[in-house]
Amino acid sequence: MFNRRAVILGLAALPALAGAARALGAAPPPPDTLATSIGDVTIQPLNHATLLLRQGSHVLYIDPAKVDFTGQPAPTAILITHEHADHFDPGNLAKIAGKAQIVAPQSVADKSPAALEGQVTVMHNGDTGSVDGLPVTAIAAYNTSPDRQQYHPKGRDNGYVVSFGDKRIYIAGDTEPTPEVLALTGIDIAFLPMNQPFTMTPEQAAEAVRAFRPRVVYPYHYKGTDPQQFADLVGGAAEVRLRDWYM
Ligand code: ZN
Ligand code: ZN
Repeated sequence: MFNRRAVILGLAALPALAGAARALGAAPPPPDTLATSIGDVTIQPLNHATLLLRQGSHVLYIDPAKVDFTGQPAPTAILITHEHADHFDPGNLAKIAGKAQIVAPQSVADKSPAALEGQVTVMHNGDTGSVDGLPVTAIAAYNTSPDRQQYHPKGRDNGYVVSFGDKRIYIAGDTEPTPEVLALTGIDIAFLPMNQPFTMTPEQAAEAVRAFRPRVVYPYHYKGTDPQQFADLVGGAAEVRLRDWYM
């Protein structure tokens, strides 16, 4: 429970947790790097559920909502998990999309600006395809607890596994530990949500980590929940990266 790595991560995360949130306009946390067989992937947390993955010419935004993208590179692709406002902002999308490919579930495609229609690739739960030439699989994202199913009903929303060469990155979207999540294999990096009551509790997220064993896990989308609690529960089962996701 109380291993050395958790202690070090806890100390590193103290300023972020103590400070609650970044000042408006403050820079996001420094990016991390993942070495892959096609080159390094840069992982940039931006805000709440929004992140940026870059490798070579690939510039992938995940759920670009409610973020000022001034100074950020133009996307070559955008992945959207679901229609909620903290993940999908049609106005912002129209501003930043350019000619980028947009991967989204049907419900998001239906609500996207008409001008972007030709750029949207619809993926349903379980579909495999490609995003900006990279392999991608849509993973079902939904609530399993009987009292929470109104938030994310089964069949509507996606998480995504994106492959960069020999490495696989899983962005969960808003989900609980569904059978589809628990059955994942070979995940190098996972982004797991834990704000309540919409997604996982820290206990559920730790249970998911122990089941599908990502090498590295980022708690994200954790507003109102202490990600350190999750890190303590995960212990040595994965490397937990605590970052400041909030402006
Ligand atoms: Zn949601
Ligand atoms: Zn959300």
